[in-house]
Amino acid sequence: MKIFKTLSLLAIMAIGMATTANAQDLMAREAKADFQLKSSNIVSKIINQAKMNEEANYAKNIYGSSWNNDGVNVYKGMARPEELVINLKDFSMPIKSRIVTSNFGYRARFRRNHYGTDINGCTGDTIYAAFSGKVRVRKYDAKGFGYYIVIRHNNGLETVYGHLSKQLVNVNQEVRSGQPIGLCGNTGHSFGSHLHFETRVLGEAINPALMFDFAAADIVSDTYTYRSKSNTVPVAEPVLAQNKSQEVQETQEVQEAKALAAKPKAKAKVPARKSVSHKVQQGETLSSIARKHNTTVAEICRRNGIKQTSTLRLGQNLTVK
Ligand SMILES: [Zn+2]
Repeated sequence: MKIFKTLSLLAIMAIGMATTANAQDLMAREAKADFQLKSSNIVSKIINQAKMNEEANYAKNIYGSSWNNDGVNVYKGMARPEELVINLKDFSMPIKSRIVTSNFGYRARFRRNHYGTDINGCTGDTIYAAFSGKVRVRKYDAKGFGYYIVIRHNNGLETVYGHLSKQLVNVNQEVRSGQPIGLCGNTGHSFGSHLHFETRVLGEAINPALMFDFAAADIVSDTYTYRSKSNTVPVAEPVLAQNKSQEVQETQEVQEAKALAAKPKAKAKVPARKSVSHKVQQGETLSSIARKHNTTVAEICRRNGIKQTSTLRLGQNLTVK
């Protein structure tokens, strides 16, 4: 902090010196204006560097000397600080798209957690570092993240970028916020191109929605206060109807739900019945409708002459049985 104050003082002095230049001497004025420009540039560079070092030290205080290139959560058993204030001001959107296709949280349907936020994207879309930092992991995980990148940021967060078609940065490489680090893809356990984006502190996954408003491409507030074990709140499931006219790429979860729904229910005796129709409500998907009526997505598609990938409209009438 001391060096920071000294440098600020230096900057003020430099500006002061230049602005009190003798107005009669044009040459001197120009020279001093030039000096002002150069010196304030240098001073701001030094201040930025000092600031970055200070932030890097912040991450160091959290992670200590631990620097492991093997995977996402390599911190089991490590002590967690009770509270951490994470500076979010340097945030850059990890992808241009603002459409969230799957939220963070527990999925009763699959009895497992989704540790990140899925953002819609096309294969080849640029993926950007959310903050400045250093690439800790660059790996391939066929059954999970596919090609993925993990960055440790100076603000103490670690971010994960999954299902990439290409990685553009190497392990131990320093990156700046907004720097391209990969290309969006559909690798690993993914069905449809999207970015799987995670935010973690010492391996503990935190709901990115507590920090970022992806639809607005912005941060929720300047800082996020991490409290150990306070972020395990389940979050709502993906909502296709919210995106209305927009064609939404199917997420892994939606696909899985459809696959589950499409599985024939063995031994279930089905009595003869009249046809049943269903009006599409907010938040419903083909698979949720199929489940509600104890039928399959394939059956609904067949009866209505639609595809599994068709976008549902609010109020649309579907024959379900
Ligand atoms: Zn995901």
